[in-house]
Amino acid sequence: MTTFDSRWQDRLTERLAAGLLRRRRILTSPQGVNVSVDGRTYRSFCSNDYLGLANDPRLKDAAAKAIIDSGVGGGASHLVLGHHYEHEALECELAEFTGREKALVFSSGYMANLAVVAALANKTDGVFEDKLNHASLIDGGLLSGARFQRYLHNNAQSLSNYLKRFDEKNSREDAKKLVVTDGVFSMDGDVADLKSVSEVCRQHDALLMVDDAHGLGVIGHQGRGSVSHMQLTVDEVPVLIGTFGKAFGTAGAFVAGSSLLIDYLTQFARPYIYTTSMPPAIAAATRESLRIIQKSDDKRAHLQMVIAYFQTELKCLGLDVLESNTAIQPIIIRSNEKLIRLSTFLEEQGFLVGAIRPPTVPENTARLRVTLSAEHQKNDVDALLASLKQAQHLGLL
Ligand SMILES: *Cc1c(COP(=O)(O)O)cnc(C)c1O
Repeated sequence: MTTFDSRWQDRLTERLAAGLLRRRRILTSPQGVNVSVDGRTYRSFCSNDYLGLANDPRLKDAAAKAIIDSGVGGGASHLVLGHHYEHEALECELAEFTGREKALVFSSGYMANLAVVAALANKTDGVFEDKLNHASLIDGGLLSGARFQRYLHNNAQSLSNYLKRFDEKNSREDAKKLVVTDGVFSMDGDVADLKSVSEVCRQHDALLMVDDAHGLGVIGHQGRGSVSHMQLTVDEVPVLIGTFGKAFGTAGAFVAGSSLLIDYLTQFARPYIYTTSMPPAIAAATRESLRIIQKSDDKRAHLQMVIAYFQTELKCLGLDVLESNTAIQPIIIRSNEKLIRLSTFLEEQGFLVGAIRPPTVPENTARLRVTLSAEHQKNDVDALLASLKQAQHLGLL
């Protein structure tokens, strides 16, 4: 018994009563389209392994070889003795891939975002974030202690209004403005209007940071992501974040930008400094992944075909689908209870699809979040569509 027990119990009971208690499944196979979970096999539509690289033999070989050569653990933080050759090489290759001067590698995207936003903004500054930004970006903004403002989703006009208001109210000469947005929004699958957002940033002398976790590897020529796809320059997007847990199929993240930015973060970003480096073998596998990603335009073309097919067929079923051309395809259900019934039905039919509820998404927007991968074939999608159709007939949808 601790003095906190009754509080913990009350909060869990509330969650349960609201139909919002989450449970973890136990995966006993590698990530992929066909997975073993809790002793059954399923077709999965809920991983972020967009190119099917998480279980790719080339990545596994690279990781295994690096484990033999360099051991398992990083052993120390980067600034002590944890910065291995594999990290250094990966950073150089990422800088080249993103067309930026330097890159800095982190053990996770959550940590990278916390580190970068909090290190860039201080108490006198303003941080402006899209309402639907990833939780790690929001948390970074709060940790920074800056004046924190969320603007309407993907709405450059709303951003502009807030920036203007900040300037009017703020007499301090040294107050800076940092604007932060996802490149592809993780729960809606829409792509940020980066042209307009970067133009507003230019007008108001604000710094733009883009987190392209779901864009890199998936969108654009050679998988260079949404920033490159929209032909934005390094000056328009001086701070670029990418993660390795999604299309790269490994783990970790990076920030890329000018030498000055990266030198500054290396010295001042606390979540970078006070943590053990990522295992060098993960960096080695990520280097292999980066090579594969650049050669995978055919896989991306296949994925786009699967996405377009799924969208068209969903619309034929008359479902409430969000406008998304990315691998993230949400079907809005609204009621949490209805979503649970639907997702249980799909599971019985052998499909795993993300059932996303508040507080991950706003109230009354509970949704089925289908994620597609280049490993999905047309027949996988057809099978899911057939079950959705059946769910419709049964009044579950
Ligand atoms: C997944 C995700 C992250 C977190 O990355 P991890 O490496 O999984 O911690 C950050 N930003 C966005 C937009 C994401 O989708």
